[in-house]
Amino acid sequence: MLRTHTCGELRPAHINQTVTLAGWVQTIRNIGKVLWLDLRDRYGITQIVAEEGKTSDAIFAQMRSLGREFVVQVTGKVVERYSKNPELPTGDIEIAVEQFEILNASKTPPFKIQDDTDGGDDLRMEYRYLDLRRNIVRKNLELRHAVNRATRQYLDGLGFIDVETPVLIKSTPEGARDFVVPSRMNKGEFYALPQSPQTFKQILMVAGFDRYYQIVKCFRDEDLRADRQPEFTQIDCEMSFITQEDILNTFEGLVKFLFKEVKDVEIPTLPRMTYADAMRLYGSDKPDTRFDMQFVELKGQDRDLTSGKNFVVFDSAELVVGICAKGCSEYTRKQMDELTDWLKRPQIGAKGLIYVRYGQDGSLKSSVDKFYNEEDLKKWAEAMGAEKGDLMLIISGEAGKARKQLNELRLEMGTRLGLRDKNKFSCLWVVDFPMLEYSEDDNRWYAMHHPFTAPKPEDAHYLDTQEFGKIRANAYDMVINGVEVGGGSIRIFQRGLQEKALSVLGFSPEEAKSQFGFLMDAFEFGTPPHGGIAFGFDRLCSLFGGADSIRDFIAFPKNNAGRDMMIKSPSTIAQAQLDELGLKVNLK
Ligand code: ASP
Repeated sequence: MLRTHTCGELRPAHINQTVTLAGWVQTIRNIGKVLWLDLRDRYGITQIVAEEGKTSDAIFAQMRSLGREFVVQVTGKVVERYSKNPELPTGDIEIAVEQFEILNASKTPPFKIQDDTDGGDDLRMEYRYLDLRRNIVRKNLELRHAVNRATRQYLDGLGFIDVETPVLIKSTPEGARDFVVPSRMNKGEFYALPQSPQTFKQILMVAGFDRYYQIVKCFRDEDLRADRQPEFTQIDCEMSFITQEDILNTFEGLVKFLFKEVKDVEIPTLPRMTYADAMRLYGSDKPDTRFDMQFVELKGQDRDLTSGKNFVVFDSAELVVGICAKGCSEYTRKQMDELTDWLKRPQIGAKGLIYVRYGQDGSLKSSVDKFYNEEDLKKWAEAMGAEKGDLMLIISGEAGKARKQLNELRLEMGTRLGLRDKNKFSCLWVVDFPMLEYSEDDNRWYAMHHPFTAPKPEDAHYLDTQEFGKIRANAYDMVINGVEVGGGSIRIFQRGLQEKALSVLGFSPEEAKSQFGFLMDAFEFGTPPHGGIAFGFDRLCSLFGGADSIRDFIAFPKNNAGRDMMIKSPSTIAQAQLDELGLKVNLK
């Protein structure tokens, strides 16, 4: 080794030892006759000191010429530091340099290699190798490594086998567009990159593997948001001879184990909420349950506290639903206007916001005082559990839309009220998802999870009566702090049922056969009942790391335009390569 110790290792116990360190120049300070160098590597920072008169002139001159990020090797004696730095684990000592070598020079880096860097996102991505030298980013990857290791430990312990599945495959629909790869040997034909190893893990169950897992790359060609990447990693799992209950217990165990190992946090038994309740109480299938603020319907299926007062907006609405923001009755007119404008932005698209202030003095004042008297408002307050000092926020309209909008408002109020603490974790299972979802836009049914998800046996008859909206699936999501971290289902394992499900989804018998014939053929050779789940590995890591974006937890991520700024990809390819593939680029 070119060093005897790392830059994070030396302590007072090493004083008087002669050591050799190697690393990068973090900073250099020269005050008069003394020169201090902070030497950095993955493990820490150690101060090196040179003193005119004590250190040779040649070395002193050489050290003076250093720039940031030069790679150097230093040999010297560990000495006690005059002014100690309690912030650094190595802050009690320094190295009095005796031998010095520049192993490699460095250009001046385009941004500062420190926690609060001055580099913008794109610059940091272009010079990702410099960004990765920063503590913060490296720590994220160390955390990722810890989550990976603990996952393997838990699953290995339960007899799961890690099996690799291919990357050049045929489309597996997970609801996104496929990335495709042209085949040179089979011109005019394409592989698809897996959106997940779904069909392969099911085939492994047919093959009798019983318990499979893989920490695996998946590819989905979607428009990107902060928490999405075109390639991302899943903890992908499948089990045979199980019920939904077994899967929930096994993977609740995994998540509890990860929290304990990685964060030293004990997670209580996960509550279960049906999809229907999640939508009714939170307007979302991934409710953030770190805080309550549940929806209360003022006009809905069970009650109507708003009709008959000539307020057309409510009278014509399918649903009038609100939340109670504790202690917000003092919100000013201006704040309410801002909140309303925020809700009216096209991303959310609310038509308006009605509010009722429950003053500290017991008064009830609303933005619809023209239509509703204090008696009416009191009934609302009662229904919503509002007390003096609270603010009731109410949205109305078509039920689906109103719930979605109120979900956004609830999350926003949760943020404003400081109720979404990143160090608090609230986990739950959302269960009983509908099997199918109708798209008005496309005029057809879509699988809510994916086409291999089994209906609940007691709901399967709706397939025959064509009441598709009534079918609940044995499908489940794990939600933590309002983020869907994992999801899965019990699978269809009979050819007939799979054919039926595909036909509801609009596959002709020929299409079904050409795309999934292999799976349905396999089903005819003794397929065990099976089911599984996949966790978004990057998301899980970012959650553990208390960050919003998964990008910070991926060594080489892509930007929002799907580009790798460092290697400059995607890029065009040579004409010869296109010819070989039999492809012609036709940009219109
Ligand atoms: N393949 C599914 C997904 O990627 C997970 C599963 O059903 O196991 O969401």
